Amino acid sequence: MHKLEVHQIPVLNDNYVYLAHCPTTGDTAVIDPAVAGPVLAEAKRLGWRITHILNTHHHGDHVGGNLGIKAATGCTIVGPKADAGRIPGIDVEVDDGDHYSLGDATAQVFFVPGHTRGHIAYWFADSAALFCGDTLFALGCGRLFEGSPQQMWSSLSKLRRLPDDTRVFCAHEYTQANARFAVTVDPANQALHDRSAAIDAARAQGKPTVPSLLGEEKATNPFLRADERSLADGLGLTNAAPEIVFAEVRKRKDSF
Ligand SMILES: [Zn+2]
Repeated sequence: MHKLEVHQIPVLNDNYVYLAHCPTTGDTAVIDPAVAGPVLAEAKRLGWRITHILNTHHHGDHVGGNLGIKAATGCTIVGPKADAGRIPGIDVEVDDGDHYSLGDATAQVFFVPGHTRGHIAYWFADSAALFCGDTLFALGCGRLFEGSPQQMWSSLSKLRRLPDDTRVFCAHEYTQANARFAVTVDPANQALHDRSAAIDAARAQGKPTVPSLLGEEKATNPFLRADERSLADGLGLTNAAPEIVFAEVRKRKDSF
């Protein structure tokens, strides 16, 4: 039984904002509010009182609703210590290895730089929920705006160690485009082809493909598979270090 109920709110073009609610205490966190209005409206509709905002990184489509939601609710804003200066309204700074309680549930914080230099992720083991912002996507990973391939591979390797049944609540619906790319670098992966077909079917019906399960990502996401022999061989990088293979996959995706 999960300690948190998670509600997904699609906003802007392809962002997902999440409400995570502890039914015992009533505490409710918004994860990465891109906007304020639709999030406040959805919380009201559900009868959930927003007590916290959890930010993963400073990009506008993750913090744009911070000040509006704080003004409306008086909530506490939690964000990355390494990037506190870029998180509007931040109250509590958290860093790698920290634990933060939301009602009866507890998040472990991971420092996962690469997409930005201060990016963090929140893992609620008690709810099989990972809120990873723009670090790990379904079948993809974030662009390297402020970090190196080595940093991102290290960050993704941390997340890859979590249990297979972890639900990956990433911040964008990019999965179908990611699948188109993934099959070009991991063409022999039958599980990837099967997943790609399922994604096409879901999108044709207008259904979200997020959250995915971390176990599926381990099996099919090329950015988590840079240390797989078959993937390295296919890129002409046999025996190369995983971070070299990762860098090549990321480079190809950037120009796909
Ligand atoms: Zn971002």
